[in-house]
Amino acid sequence: MAAPQQQLVFAPLGGVGEIGMNLSIYGLGDERRRQWLAVDLGVSFASEEHLPGVDLILPDIRYLVAERKNLAGLVLTHAHEDHFGAILDLWPKLKVPIYATPFTAALLEAKRASEPGAPEIPVTVVPLGGRFTVGPFDVELVTMAHSIPESNALIIRTPAGAVLHTGDWKIDPTPILGDRTDERKLRALGEEGCLALVGDSTNAVREGRSPSEKDVAKTIAEIVKAARGRVAVTTFASNVGRLRAVIDAARAAEREVVVVGRAMDRIVQVARETGYMEGVQDLRSADAYGYLPPNKVVALCTGSQGEPRAALSRIAMDQHPDVTLSRGDTVIYSARTIPGNEREVGRVINGLIEQGITVITDRTHLVHVSGHPRRAELEELIGWVKPKILIPVHGEALHLSEHAALARRCGVKEVVQCRNGDLLRLSPSAAIVDEVPCGRLYKDGSLLVEADARTIADRRRLSFAGAVSVALALGERGELVDDPSLDLLGIPERDRDGGLIHEAVYDAVIETFDSLPRKRRMDPDAVAEAVRRAVRAAVAERWGKKPMCHVHVLAV
Ligand SMILES: [Zn+2]
Ligand SMILES: [Zn+2]
Repeated sequence: MAAPQQQLVFAPLGGVGEIGMNLSIYGLGDERRRQWLAVDLGVSFASEEHLPGVDLILPDIRYLVAERKNLAGLVLTHAHEDHFGAILDLWPKLKVPIYATPFTAALLEAKRASEPGAPEIPVTVVPLGGRFTVGPFDVELVTMAHSIPESNALIIRTPAGAVLHTGDWKIDPTPILGDRTDERKLRALGEEGCLALVGDSTNAVREGRSPSEKDVAKTIAEIVKAARGRVAVTTFASNVGRLRAVIDAARAAEREVVVVGRAMDRIVQVARETGYMEGVQDLRSADAYGYLPPNKVVALCTGSQGEPRAALSRIAMDQHPDVTLSRGDTVIYSARTIPGNEREVGRVINGLIEQGITVITDRTHLVHVSGHPRRAELEELIGWVKPKILIPVHGEALHLSEHAALARRCGVKEVVQCRNGDLLRLSPSAAIVDEVPCGRLYKDGSLLVEADARTIADRRRLSFAGAVSVALALGERGELVDDPSLDLLGIPERDRDGGLIHEAVYDAVIETFDSLPRKRRMDPDAVAEAVRRAVRAAVAERWGKKPMCHVHVLAV
């Protein structure tokens, strides 16, 4: 008699319904004896308005922590922050073996070294295209073209079937660095039989094919060649192929490349260590910039997202110690603006233009291209792999539903749309069978806080409407033993008629206190609550907004 087939399940704990914070788990075995494989552990970036003071959003891994004993390992597809950015913060809670290819491992180590107090993290380095086992899972890497070296899809083979987890990919026939997407291996998987494809949906709304990195390199070379003054290029530092394109463009125009910004320095270093800078002579550091004639320099800068402390923003504000730009110079934005950063990026671009600097963006020139597959590429992959089941991931709702519709049109029998926390059974047949806990954590300063913690909501409220703090000293018989002490924070000084708001608040405190019956005055909580209401009402009457208010009542 054949052994009963083992159940294979999949659950996204991040990255579905959003672009960012990728974390997927695969489980093998029945519910009571399931072994897990995790893929990626990424972050999302917070928007300053909604989450003031929050730097990063991380997946809530309470489920994995609870299942830690059964978690065989974590495999990283590539070194983009949305796939590996949460490791330094979250790995200590899991302490599972990590598997990564050389560039990803080296970048993780460089990141760790630059963060004081970051934990030692042992990583098993696996070769490109390698095959290895993680617990009961047989994992094989498939090289995929993307916008960073060493992006890998995973073929996860189990007794219940083989899954293709695509990671981030595109079909680029002429990438600048690294091998092309491994079509042969993907077709072979199609022949072998693919139970499920779990795939990147980022560009599922875009027709056709994503242009090649080589086309971008050509445009950049033309612009650098034609430029008269200095040239600065900003891009995502991790796109080493793009850095190579800029370096080649500079060399062709007999210019030297100056590297500006810490993230850029770090990547150049890691790319050298891992063999991705072969044939590139030494690049110059920022302090060499001032000695080079304007027509002999290309500055490769961080700051493509308008980050205020990054190189390009400081250059635009004329606050960079080494690098300046002026009328007649050219800045190339070789990057997409991540949604949420439009305002910051716009501020830098407009600031540069107002100084007479020419700014070239991907809106008018092919100076950037996405690393994700458009519809014709998604169709091609489905044709190669012929999955029985397709699960769209790595996208917002619109991307996921377009990817699902495309897969159905391509004849995929079972297309399952899921959300973070859904537990999908892949075999014997596909269905959402359960839910597992998931959610978000915020990196707030050096701490991780729960997304529903009051701190961030309080901070947002503070930023709209300020705060009043009141201190009252109560005597034994319920009398005020001193004048109330008041502090107003972030509240206008005067109302429309010129009256001092501080005074109005003071009067409201006294009047409210005096109007309380003697018995209630003896109760500090009752006093605090009455005063709090009165203060908020008094400010609202004069300002139209209700501040936060804290009342401290001291019984003396
Ligand atoms: Zn990526
Ligand atoms: Zn990604």
